[in-house]
Amino acid sequence: MSTTSTAVPAEVLRTLRDALGPDRLYRDVPLGPYTTFKIGGPADLFYEARTADELYHALQAARGVDLPFFLLGVGANILVGDGGFRGLVIRNAAQHVDLRPDVHQLWAESGAIVYPDLIETAVGAGLSGLEHYVGIPSTVGGALWQNLHFLSPPPARERTMFIEEVVHSADILTEEGERRTVGVDYFEFGYDQSILHHRDDVVLAATFQLTPGTEERMREIMAANLDWRRKRHPPLDTEPSAGSIFKKIEGVGAGRLIDQCGLLGTRIGGAEVTHRHANIMINRDGATAADVQALIAHVQDVVARETGYALEPEITFIGDFHAPSKSTPHQVPKPPGVLTAADRAKQRQAAT
Ligand SMILES: Cc1cc2nc3c(=O)[nH]c(=O)nc-3n(C[C@H](O)[C@H](O)[C@H](O)COP(=O)(O)OP(=O)(O)OC[C@H]3O[C@@H](n4cnc5c(N)ncnc54)[C@H](O)[C@@H]3O)c2cc1C
Repeated sequence: MSTTSTAVPAEVLRTLRDALGPDRLYRDVPLGPYTTFKIGGPADLFYEARTADELYHALQAARGVDLPFFLLGVGANILVGDGGFRGLVIRNAAQHVDLRPDVHQLWAESGAIVYPDLIETAVGAGLSGLEHYVGIPSTVGGALWQNLHFLSPPPARERTMFIEEVVHSADILTEEGERRTVGVDYFEFGYDQSILHHRDDVVLAATFQLTPGTEERMREIMAANLDWRRKRHPPLDTEPSAGSIFKKIEGVGAGRLIDQCGLLGTRIGGAEVTHRHANIMINRDGATAADVQALIAHVQDVVARETGYALEPEITFIGDFHAPSKSTPHQVPKPPGVLTAADRAKQRQAAT
């Protein structure tokens, strides 16, 4: 057993056990398995909230004892440090979904999984608006935090669609400790942005305003979007990642810059810039957060030196990080059958 849990004072531990149940509070829980990157050290304390009410009580309990906490969705947009998290990680497993067909609304607790749970419920009921986000790993809470987005609908893909377009309202716990319902405007949504980046508010549940649609067209969009993603993104089950590592640079493309600098296939330790997508790093072989940090810094240095652009990470860094890995960057060849963006462009050209 690690010694990290001694960082939580006994009195705090007792209070939390009383509030959350002694058999529901775990100590020294490795966080890697709870993230899509499969990287990260242990949380001192770990609790799984199964309902929005449990989530509310857990947040209030942590705030009541002044213990740092982190609310975890499916961990698809974060890198957890190798040192883990000092405090309480609350995993949001509040997943109840309630269809309100008379008003074309879908209510969901904030730990509900966007795909398949939320999207299949909506599409099965003939309600349109969420199908564009098929295949993106996310809870409802994470989707509102980052304003989930995707280039859709096919075939034109003329614009980026945002989840804010279908958010009607949400039940939140404010940073001041008030539980209330807010409308979509409260969130001040932007690209990869919402008020949740700037205030310690937590989404407990959200209501989506959808519109009647034909199931056939929605299934067509879902199939096309899943296919689009399959061709460009590394498969999460064999090549874990956190999606795009760097923020979009309008009109330039972070991935394009990385590709242009010849960084595809660059590896440090077990972390690699995948040949499939220049802005995605994968955990190829037991990568540590220190490997990912070193690879991020290396890519930033090369891109800044060669193009003058400053790449900024899009993912959030959670917990304690050790020094970046000192391994020398090296390049691995493209695995057979893998297509780069350039390969796909050539294929498209040949087809026209
Ligand atoms: C392979 C892959 C592809 C991706 N493709 C896309 C894409 O096409 N479009 C896109 O937009 N994103 C994409 N992403 C990024 C990711 O899916 C989204 O950012 C997603 O919304 C993260 O949700 P999550 O539940 O995993 O949140 P987490 O990563 O667990 O948490 C992210 C942040 O949200 C906060 N948070 C979580 N729940 C709540 C809540 N209830 N209230 C307040 N704050 C909360 C957390 O505390 C944390 O700060 C991709 C990621 C991967 C791994």
